[in-house]
Amino acid sequence: MASITLQNINKSYGLVQAVKDVSFEIADGEFFGLLGPSGSGKTTVLRMLAGLEHPTGGSILFDGRAVEDRSPQERNIAMVFESNALYPHMSARQNISYPLKIAKLPAAQIAAKVGEVAQMLNIAHLLDRRAGQMSGGQQQRVAIARALVRQPNLLCLDEPIAHLDTLLRARLRGELKRLQRALGTTSVIVTHDPIEAMTMTDRLALMRDGVLQQVGTPDDIHNRPVNSFVAQFFGLHSINLLPLSDLSGTDRHTARMGEAEVALPASVPGDAGPDGRLVIGARPSQVDVQRRGTASDTRDAVRLSGRVYVAEQLGDALLVTVQSGETSLQALVPHDRDFAIDEPVDVVIPDEALFVFDAATQATRRFARQTSTVSRAAISGPERLWVM
Ligand code: ADP
Ligand code: MG
Repeated sequence: MASITLQNINKSYGLVQAVKDVSFEIADGEFFGLLGPSGSGKTTVLRMLAGLEHPTGGSILFDGRAVEDRSPQERNIAMVFESNALYPHMSARQNISYPLKIAKLPAAQIAAKVGEVAQMLNIAHLLDRRAGQMSGGQQQRVAIARALVRQPNLLCLDEPIAHLDTLLRARLRGELKRLQRALGTTSVIVTHDPIEAMTMTDRLALMRDGVLQQVGTPDDIHNRPVNSFVAQFFGLHSINLLPLSDLSGTDRHTARMGEAEVALPASVPGDAGPDGRLVIGARPSQVDVQRRGTASDTRDAVRLSGRVYVAEQLGDALLVTVQSGETSLQALVPHDRDFAIDEPVDVVIPDEALFVFDAATQATRRFARQTSTVSRAAISGPERLWVM
């Protein structure tokens, strides 16, 4: 196990600058996530941590010591990729034992270690089956067992469960988290899936175009995003972003959104930039939809009129998409509500649910005061069901 520090790491491939001046720390024993869209530089950062790539600038420290000129073996790294590299003709036992045989451990010790790690990963009954005859999920467990059996300083996981089907992914998320907790091995997982990052990691780094956007706990990132990109990327349902203009006019309780006029709560104009523009954001779980004209007192809320584009039943909530002028908004409402396509409605966003972002820089000017509970319940739902 090790604590890890990245200081001003850069990586260029010719003219492509894949990673730009990235710095963060990973604590000993932490489960850390690298999250971002495809091409944002996650794998490149992971490969530099592992010693498979050399930074073009900056330094990487393990327990305070620079490791740039150390090989993956010397750093004692274990890696698991999306496509595992098991030997298909060898049994699970032979695959898992392999790194210990290379390290010339005595046979009895190898057998004990393999038995222990197989127990942890629920694959003890598969040890004598050939890797080539296993399902994708079983193979990935064997690959993880092989990585862990050497007791690495750092476990590097690059999209290890991305290709598995939804239910199996949900199950393996939980298993990986339990396993990481039990072993306490410092671990870094690369993923483009915010749900994986949110459910598994202690803290994560969110990247965009090679630039680190924010480092924090899933709660920090979900509820205190530094900019609208982070707010939009991190969440089960994408946050609604509404660009407003004309906030500097005489009537400061209305603004323009495209062609439409929008009623605003008293607090919002104070957050507008000098150009009278801003972007407001609200998570679907915090947005309500009501039949046109039935909304009660909405003085302390943003109210928009529109028509239902579609209402989708998610089982424990109804996801309603509303078209308001040029803008499309989503709301998660109780599952027993009912809306018809094209029905005229009002969208109501309470003041305490509003994020405010700078229109020019995307930087957050204000966080929502009340954060959601609905989206969290929806995330843990399928996982809970499956693990039972
Ligand atoms: P991610 O894992 O977030 O999808 P990567 O780290 O794989 O992103 O890639 C980041 C950027 O660096 C991309 O633009 C990618 O095309 C580029 N890149 C990655 N590896 C190489 C390479 N070996 N040669 C050239 N460009 C690369
Ligand atoms: Mg990648």
